[in-house]
Amino acid sequence: MTTVIKASCCDCGDVELGVDDLKVRVCTYDDQGSFVFRCPTCRMSTAKPAEARVIEMLVASGVRLVKWRLPAEIFEPHHGAPISHDDLIEFHKLIQGDDWYEAVLG
Ligand SMILES: [Zn+2]
Repeated sequence: MTTVIKASCCDCGDVELGVDDLKVRVCTYDDQGSFVFRCPTCRMSTAKPAEARVIEMLVASGVRLVKWRLPAEIFEPHHGAPISHDDLIEFHKLIQGDDWYEAVLG
């Protein structure tokens, strides 16, 4: 028996997918889940949030589960103001010179 999963593409409307046509993604930090698929009609990728019971049902049906985590940099302490556009311009000018590495270390 083949499992048919019905999903909705924002351009094509309702589409039918097999278990290998989509992936379930769960963030290990907050357990928020979503599923992603490529529309069989227009080939556009679609990602939609999903509640835990939908995730469980999809995984039980054989859809591949991918766990992902937030980048570690998010949890690093940050000091000072955020980098501004002016900071980027200043940095760009700085690295135009020959002694930029010494200037950055200083
Ligand atoms: Zn589509």
